[in-house]
Amino acid sequence: MNRKYRKTVIAANWKMNKTPSDTKAFMTEFKAMMPKGRWCDVAICVPAVCIPAAVRAMRETRVGIGAENCNANASGAYTGEIATNMLVDAGCKYVIIGHSERRAMGETDAEVNAKVQAALAAELIPILCVGESLEQREIGITEEWITMQIKAALNGVAEEKIRKIIIAYEPIWAIGTGKTATPEQAEEVCEHIRTVIRKLYGAKIARATSILYGGSMNEKNAFELLAQPDIDGGLIGGASLVPEKFVKIIEAANQPTV
Ligand code: PEP
Repeated sequence: MNRKYRKTVIAANWKMNKTPSDTKAFMTEFKAMMPKGRWCDVAICVPAVCIPAAVRAMRETRVGIGAENCNANASGAYTGEIATNMLVDAGCKYVIIGHSERRAMGETDAEVNAKVQAALAAELIPILCVGESLEQREIGITEEWITMQIKAALNGVAEEKIRKIIIAYEPIWAIGTGKTATPEQAEEVCEHIRTVIRKLYGAKIARATSILYGGSMNEKNAFELLAQPDIDGGLIGGASLVPEKFVKIIEAANQPTV
C-alpha cells in the first residue's frame, strides 16, 4: 500500500451467495463491528437482487455498494441483463468487471472493454479483474497475459477517465481454492500492472491507480499481502461473507505504509 499516492480499497465479492434477507442481517452485524477510523475505502459487491437491501443498510456510512457485473448497452432487448444507469439509480458506486468466473462463462476481452467504458461513462467505479491460469503461470507467460488483458480492457479509455478505475489482480489458481499467492508473487504482478499503466498513461496516473490482490485473501494472510508496496487492497470472495473475517481484513489495512 502507499496511502500517500493512492486509495487503499477493501472490496467484497459475494458472488452468488446470500439472499436480500441475509444481506440485511450481514449489514447489521457488520455495521456494529466496522472499524471507526477511515483507513481505507470499503466496497461490498453483491448479487443484483441484494443491491437495494445493501444500499439501504449502508446509507450514511463510508461503505459503497457495488454490482458484480453490468451490461454495456444503455437499454433494449437484453433479457435478464442490467445496464450501468440502472445500477447507478439503485445506489451502486462500484461494479466488478471481467471476473474470471464470468470470463469462464464466455465473457470476451471486447465485452470487458465495452463494460469498462459503459461503467466509466455512467460514473461507476469499475473493479477490473485480470489474472492468469495455473497453466499460463507454469509456462511462464503471466506477465504477457496480464499485459494483454489490461491493454484489451482499457482500449480507447481516455486519460481523464482512467483515474477512477481500480484493477484487481486475481490469479485464477488462487480464487476460491485456499491457495493464496505468496506476497512476493502477488507483488511482482501488481508491480508489473503498474508498469503497464505507466506505459499506457504515464507515471502520475500509474502512481495514483489502486491495484488490489484477490485470491483466497483472508483475515490471516491480509496483513502480509497488504504490506507490499504495490498491493493497494484486496478483492475478497469467501472471507467477505463473514462479518468478523471481513472486518479483520479491513483492520489489516491499518498498518504503516511506505
Ligand atoms: C473473488 O471471487 O474475487 C475471490 C478472490 O474469491 P476468494 O477470496 O474466495 O478466493
